[in-house]
Amino acid sequence: MLNKKSIKTILNVKHTCIDNVTMLADTSIMIEVHATKGHQCRCGICGKKSKFYDNGNQGARTWRACDWAGHKIILVAPSCRVNCPIHGVVTCQFPWARHDSKFTYKFEEMTAWMAVNCSKTAVAAYMRISWNTVGPIIARVEKDLDINPEERFNNLIRIGVDETSYRKGHKYITTVVNHDTGNVIWVAQGHGKTIFEKFFKQLTPEQRASIQLVSGDGAKWIDECVREYCPNANRCIDPFHVIEWAMDALDNVRVETWREAKKNTPSQPKTKPGRPKKDAPKKDTTATEIKNSKIALGKSTSNLTPNQQAKVEWIAKTEPRLYRAYKLKEALRLVFYNDTVEEAEEALTAWVNWARHCRIPAFVELQRKIVRHWNAIINTIEYGLTNARIEAINNKIKLSIRMAYGFRNIENMIAMIMLRCSDIKVQLPWEQEEWISFFCI
Ligand SMILES: [Zn+2]
Repeated sequence: MLNKKSIKTILNVKHTCIDNVTMLADTSIMIEVHATKGHQCRCGICGKKSKFYDNGNQGARTWRACDWAGHKIILVAPSCRVNCPIHGVVTCQFPWARHDSKFTYKFEEMTAWMAVNCSKTAVAAYMRISWNTVGPIIARVEKDLDINPEERFNNLIRIGVDETSYRKGHKYITTVVNHDTGNVIWVAQGHGKTIFEKFFKQLTPEQRASIQLVSGDGAKWIDECVREYCPNANRCIDPFHVIEWAMDALDNVRVETWREAKKNTPSQPKTKPGRPKKDAPKKDTTATEIKNSKIALGKSTSNLTPNQQAKVEWIAKTEPRLYRAYKLKEALRLVFYNDTVEEAEEALTAWVNWARHCRIPAFVELQRKIVRHWNAIINTIEYGLTNARIEAINNKIKLSIRMAYGFRNIENMIAMIMLRCSDIKVQLPWEQEEWISFFCI
């Protein structure tokens, strides 16, 4: 059997004494430990030496540590409660684990790293814990790693705000992104003016003054907050929101066209089972073709596959009105690819004129909306906000929310977004400085 010092080194724990090691019937290894004298009877929350209160409920607790070649490692230690002058009666601190956790520091860091880099099922299967348990672990690790959250608010120049729905669109969270670094800097539950105001209230007057540009969708509450808290900043609009508006208008036209086509399709006699006869009249599939054209119409012309290209060409021949709507959507998207403000203004003026006279109600309405947000769109092009980067971070946030669906607590979901999308770096145990200095020197 290994000596106690080697076991302590493998466990990578500090201020801990090893008492006994036993192999259990299910091949897991139970290691009895206790904290060194200087680290006994400390408050679990603040870590201050406190008076012994009692032995708690059972007098002993267990923790999972990182596995040894597939064997589960379980630490067992005597537990007690202390009476802290600030926090009252609480469980004592253990030098190998965070307060209120059933896992060691290294186990939690490993789980958090995996949750950031791997899929849900991979984390749960490899660490042998349920996905629900991952939520609180992430929240604890994030809290420890995020020592100075205010530092993120220094030297902000271009920021973006967006609201994202979760739980089937019933609830929202608001995220603020630093466009220059591509990182999330602030997340809060809820949406609207009162929530966005909370962000600005955390900033010092100097930090607010450094902001030159605020982007978002066309919501009025963003305008109001910008006017109130950083009046010198320019209001921009995220290009993908504008394209989304155009996509919605295009989809309206597509559904209208499909209804019309369905109405005009003569009812077809019921066919007998089996292969149809050679001379049987062909079915009219216009309505179905239109119904299935959503993906092809949503893509840009350069990204179409040969099949989708054929579909768009077919629409150009058979449904000119729908094709015109597609062309309008594409033209609006291309406005954001102009390099200079003059060119963009010219392109946008041409687009507005075209849309105004296109005789498609959805696009006439969209044209009015575009005119209302004219300055914000032009600002976006002037300050070089590219769509690809904004959409990339937005998709990353949405993916993090989807991954956190199993979490019961919203705070855990916010911690997940911060770990995955902000500048916080989760390191594996062997990437940390203490490991390198301890084992490699
Ligand atoms: Zn305390």
